Amino acid sequence: MRLLFVLILAAAIPLTAAQKKPPLYGWMVVLDPGHGGTDPGSSGNFAGKRVVEDEYVYDVALRAQRIIKSMGGLALLTIQDRRTGERSPRAQEVFPDYRGETYTGRTSVVRAGTWGLNQRLAYGNMLNRKYPKHNRAWISIHFDVVGRNRQIEGVRVIKSRTSTKLAEALRRSFGAYNWLREFAPVVENGDDAYGIRSLHILNGGNRFREKVLIELGNFNNTTDVWRVRNPVTREAYARAIATSLVGW
Ligand SMILES: [Zn+2]
Repeated sequence: MRLLFVLILAAAIPLTAAQKKPPLYGWMVVLDPGHGGTDPGSSGNFAGKRVVEDEYVYDVALRAQRIIKSMGGLALLTIQDRRTGERSPRAQEVFPDYRGETYTGRTSVVRAGTWGLNQRLAYGNMLNRKYPKHNRAWISIHFDVVGRNRQIEGVRVIKSRTSTKLAEALRRSFGAYNWLREFAPVVENGDDAYGIRSLHILNGGNRFREKVLIELGNFNNTTDVWRVRNPVTREAYARAIATSLVGW
């Protein structure tokens, strides 16, 4: 009798799992952490130490990749740091400025400029063609300085003209944490009215329809720096990115 019960149970579990698809089943997401290699990006200060953009946004991208995969989606990064996985959970630690990140699928070290951006785009566009039946999104992740303004705080999403849903979905998911910028949290690429220059990474060379660049914060704002060096917040940034894709 007990054996029969175990057999029934064993048969029932995979059936249930197959019926209920995970929340990001059918998604293919390209995560594009800003800068890397010889280009550390922007920087700020935490406890007298220099905090550089590329190491932190790379960590957020790795976390988002793990969460998206755990929710049944595909997630791929445009650059790779073969040295480490997700970074230390110690909030007081400041990541050193590592210079060895390479473009995914290549041996060349990441550097600033259009050639480098095109390496990222070539990889993403290849994936875009490879998974025509998936829901597809391109998400560049940055954490920049906003002029000399120390007051500007929080997340801004720069969307491409072709992107209709992703930016709004991100507005909702980051809004749930109250992390959006007070002024114009979602802006269009190249919108002069907000001083947004036309970003190559979101223009026509990027074949994705849903494509955004997220600025997670402002290195001149102490609250934002406090947030990004905190692994708990980086995990939440990553979760906000992943959950924005649920229920499309
Ligand atoms: Zn940046």
